[in-house]
Amino acid sequence: MGKIPTRCVHAGTIHDDLKKGINSPIYTSTSFEFIDQDDTVYPRYLNTPNEKAVAEKIASLEESESALVFSSGMAAISTVLFTFLGKGDHVVFQQGLYGGTSHFLNRELNRFGIEFSIAASQSAEDIGASIRENTKLIYIETPSNPLLNITDIKAVAEVAIDSGILTVIDNTFASPVNQQPCKHGIDIVVHSATKYLGGHSDILAGAVAGSKELIRQIHETGLNFGGSMNAITLYLLERSMKTLHVRVARINENAMQLALFLEAHPNVKQVNYPGLPGHPGHDIAKIQMSGFGGMLSFEVNGQDGISFQKRLKLIKPSMSLGGLETICSSPAHTSHRHLGAEGRKSEGISEELVRLSVGIEDVEDLKSDLEQAL
Ligand SMILES: *Cc1c(COP(=O)(O)O)cnc(C)c1O
Repeated sequence: MGKIPTRCVHAGTIHDDLKKGINSPIYTSTSFEFIDQDDTVYPRYLNTPNEKAVAEKIASLEESESALVFSSGMAAISTVLFTFLGKGDHVVFQQGLYGGTSHFLNRELNRFGIEFSIAASQSAEDIGASIRENTKLIYIETPSNPLLNITDIKAVAEVAIDSGILTVIDNTFASPVNQQPCKHGIDIVVHSATKYLGGHSDILAGAVAGSKELIRQIHETGLNFGGSMNAITLYLLERSMKTLHVRVARINENAMQLALFLEAHPNVKQVNYPGLPGHPGHDIAKIQMSGFGGMLSFEVNGQDGISFQKRLKLIKPSMSLGGLETICSSPAHTSHRHLGAEGRKSEGISEELVRLSVGIEDVEDLKSDLEQAL
């Protein structure tokens, strides 16, 4: 099938036998004839032509054997966790998780009899030290939100393989263009396809990639939980992923330039971006990532995150990430508000911290907006 840009465009496309159209036809039916058919097609069974087409593109990009598409990132994540965890099992999470994921585990796992630990840091040693006799799964996320810390994927996979434990990674921040964790020994990749895969801030979607056997098990649980996507959204996701490579390439470039600009600015205290040589995870990032992504965060001298954001004109304070437009947020007041002042302090998230999701605009326009606000 060729290299990533070619696979973004072509992988999974449904051949239009009726008219030889170049794009996948959209199958909107929720009722399919079943007499004399091998399997029953039904959207919640995750087996319509459009569900399979998008899943095939994602598997191709992640270089995994198989994949599934869900109605949101959280539908994908919760389905994976409930597929492999049950009463009496234990799971290790790294520190620095997406807010929705940490809310999920704090609220849902214990009441189903599932125990969990959050490792003291993102290092493979600390993650390994959290393993117990009943640990079934290790869950990581790199680069992390909002400090862009890097977890050594291969080192974590090795710790897990040695102990016969499944590994799951949230690959949303990097996207498969920048990072393909299955190549480094991770078992299951999850995505909020709402972000880079969807890429236009207009659809909610999730995905899971892994081996045929693991995806078969996730499929069986997934059809009970019912987090499937409709055909029109699937088509939009397929359409968006055709430009994933060009979007991410431009976003990588813009983010690197903005990181260097901010780092050199006298009013900026600290810039967190794995592409900067001074970033503590830079050497590992260079090994496991082919681009450093579009997320970065920084602290402004003497201005809290909220007042700084009010001074920006082009860059809007806005939720979510991974779109075409550059947006900013103040994690202490949004995604990490629930941690409380003490919790934020222990994770290193200050009042001054501003997070950027860099888009595809002209980088000089973005610099001017930051400059006038600084
Ligand atoms: C947004 C996000 C999620 C959750 O995805 P939804 O599509 O909002 O359900 C999970 N992980 C990361 C890293 C995210 O950014």
